[in-house]
Amino acid sequence: MKRIKSMINSWFLIEMLKGLALTGRYFFSRKITVQFPEERTPLSPRFRGLHALRRYPNGEERCIACKLCEAVCPAMAITIESEQREDGTRRTTRYDIDLSKCIFCGFCEESCPVDSIVETNILDYHAETHEGLYYTKPMLLAVGDKYEAQIARDRAKDAPYR
Ligand code: SF4
Ligand code: SF4
Repeated sequence: MKRIKSMINSWFLIEMLKGLALTGRYFFSRKITVQFPEERTPLSPRFRGLHALRRYPNGEERCIACKLCEAVCPAMAITIESEQREDGTRRTTRYDIDLSKCIFCGFCEESCPVDSIVETNILDYHAETHEGLYYTKPMLLAVGDKYEAQIARDRAKDAPYR
């Protein structure tokens, strides 16, 4: 019986017709393929992309050089040097992140008491050398300056869950 059924399927190309029916169904249904990078899927406000260092609205750096982020980083990707300023506050003289070591765990962001180091929703960046993935303090501040509005919006969205 099984053999006869298989022969009928072969003669009438049943499997092929089933396949064509499936193709036809999806041909007329709504397309779900996203044409990246022109089209993008929504990202969570907690998305952990490229790092940034933030400033306060008056332009002052948020980072107080407490080095918590450096201590907590499991990949030892952060290097900080600091000094005391004339007004007695402490600020970094060097803040580097080696993104080739970073595992994007978000611990640096979570540990920061002043919301200075953050991970943005920027995901499409690249480098062709190791040096290209070595982000220095001016580079991180530049990312923060450029995307501050987006960073602040994401922080505000996430605030009720913290
Ligand atoms: S995301 Fe994680 S691995 Fe990357 S710099 Fe921050 S703490 Fe280190
Ligand atoms: S970024 Fe935040 S956690 Fe890291 S040294 Fe600065 S203030 Fe401390």
